[in-house]
Amino acid sequence: MHPNIEELLALQSDDNRISDIEKKIAALAPRLKELDSVRQKAADAVQRSESTIESEQQRQRDISARVELHKKQQERNLAQLDSIKKMKEATAAMSQVETTRRLVAEDESELAAMGRRTETMRADVERARAALTAAEEEQASAREEIASEQGTLEAELKEARGERTGKAANVDRSLLGKYDRIRSRRDNALYPLRGPSCGNCDTAIPLQRRNVMAADGTIEVCEGCGVLLYPG
Ligand SMILES: [Zn+2]
Repeated sequence: MHPNIEELLALQSDDNRISDIEKKIAALAPRLKELDSVRQKAADAVQRSESTIESEQQRQRDISARVELHKKQQERNLAQLDSIKKMKEATAAMSQVETTRRLVAEDESELAAMGRRTETMRADVERARAALTAAEEEQASAREEIASEQGTLEAELKEARGERTGKAANVDRSLLGKYDRIRSRRDNALYPLRGPSCGNCDTAIPLQRRNVMAADGTIEVCEGCGVLLYPG
């Protein structure tokens, strides 16, 4: 066998090993993505429950501020009432006192209801946070496993690439260029002749070219599929 053929076959075997490892590394991504999506759902639920309670608390603060204003207003109303002598003015002032009293009562009753709702919301936040923590704890070992597999594969890949570089240095430059170009389009670039035909696509190779290949151990490009052919 022509020495270049042996070297090229060794290179092809390294390349197959490298692409196997790369496929295994790529296969880890969807596993991580699935874990991330489960965790994200739990984190989103926490976010939603927190923002619900935050907007409720903001409304609570707004209403409390309004109650304070109305109470101060009521103090002024009552003070005014004391100084009023005319009946008509007293009736209007009494009506103002009554309106303010009703507004304060409505707001205070709303605040009480909000207080009860906030308790429920707080429980929702706690539940969502606990679910997130549980999801993270549940995922810890799966994530560790993926990280360790990834580490092992990366190390294997580095080693395989190093070996490949060493072997590529032994292959004739122009042949290596052809091989790399073909390899960039397909998994295997190098096939043996199978009888009188291409070992990949079965296109018949003219007898004369086969004779030259057999005599010189040269590598030819298949006109049918474009792979490199060597005498088998
Ligand atoms: Zn072919």
